This record gives sequence, C-alpha cells and structure tokens, in this order.
Amino acid sequence: MPSLEELGEKIRGCVACRLCETRSQAVPGDGPATARLFFIGEGPGYYEDKSGRPFVGAAGKFLDELLGLAGLRREDVFITNVVKCRPPNNRDPQDDEIRACSQWLDHQLETVSPPVVVTLGRHSMNRYLPGESISRIHGQPRAIAGVVVVPMFHPAAALHQQRYRALIEEDFRRLPSFIAEARPSAPKPQAPALPQPEGTRQMRLF
Ligand code: URA
Repeated sequence: MPSLEELGEKIRGCVACRLCETRSQAVPGDGPATARLFFIGEGPGYYEDKSGRPFVGAAGKFLDELLGLAGLRREDVFITNVVKCRPPNNRDPQDDEIRACSQWLDHQLETVSPPVVVTLGRHSMNRYLPGESISRIHGQPRAIAGVVVVPMFHPAAALHQQRYRALIEEDFRRLPSFIAEARPSAPKPQAPALPQPEGTRQMRLF
C-alpha cells in the first residue's frame, strides 16, 4: 500500500482532469496515517492553492475552532478534499472532476483506514449518501462499509450564518462520543521479532 507521502507526490503530479491546468499546485491533504478521524471537504480555495495545505483560509481557521470544541487538534486528524486542485473562482467541483479525483481519496482512506469519516458539505456527503439533504441528516452518524460517516455542514457555509453555525458547533461537540463508539483502530504492523540468541531459544525448549 502506498504511504501518504507517496500518494502526495503522485497527487501533485496528477493531470487526470482540467483542474490541473489552472491550479498553482495540488493540495493532497494533511495529517497522520494513524488518525482516527478523517475530514473530507470540497476543494482547495485561493489560500490552499497558494500554500499547498488544506483549510488554511477563513474556513480553515473556523475548522480549527470547531476541532477545539471537540477537544481535538489539527495534528490529530487527517484533512483532505474531494478534489485536490482548486476549481477556478472557487466554483463547485464538477461531477467528472470528482470522479477523476476519487482514486486519490480512495487510496488515502485505504492507507489511513479511519474508523470515523466526517464529510464537510454537500459534495463530500454525496460520496457516501447521494441524494440526501444535509439539513436533514447533518450530525447523524451512519455505519457505511465498516466506517462511521458523519455528514456535517461545510464550515464556510456555517461561518457567517448564525443558524448553521450553532448546528455545526453542536455536531462537533458530539464528535468525541462517535469516535469512542467507533471500532478500535486496526493494529499497526509490529516490527518483526528479533532473532534470539541460540542459548535463549534452547532454554525455551526445556
Ligand atoms: N474549503 C474546502 O472545502 N477545502 C479547503 O481545503 C478549503 C476550503
């Protein structure tokens, strides 16, 4: 299985859709391979395209605050997007762009294997729950293919609308209980046992 670094390199060189023509750089995503919580946003914006990191603009600052409400830090979680390159003028990602990019998200999910996935906004919710209404199902965890999926509003939408803001804050406060109830992390491969000196092996035989 490729490491997150190897995937990042491949994503930075990806030319699978038209977004590669207008990006400054691709934004693969950030976070440890051991993260138990995996966030999927929509696509990089202006500041993400310039810095190569996800959620560093206003929505990102708000996401940091929301993580704080859940007692989490950014270093504890994995954060990426359904499309890894900025759609021009921050337009919505198009279906064929999302399809072309989904191989990267599939690989990242396989590598991190998080028990809990939070979708931020409609486009990432559609990956798991197509046709649902985010206003109706936000904050409700669903078990899908062995993962707990929690659909949430997009922080950019919630940032300036008081009604959504209160709802997303409430949903984030409940995240720790979803993580606690989700399956334990898969055990990471152990380092192979060191060969024991002859004498020690012999002693075990008696
Ligand atoms: N909005 C997103 O959906 N993703 C980002 O990385 C930044 C803003």
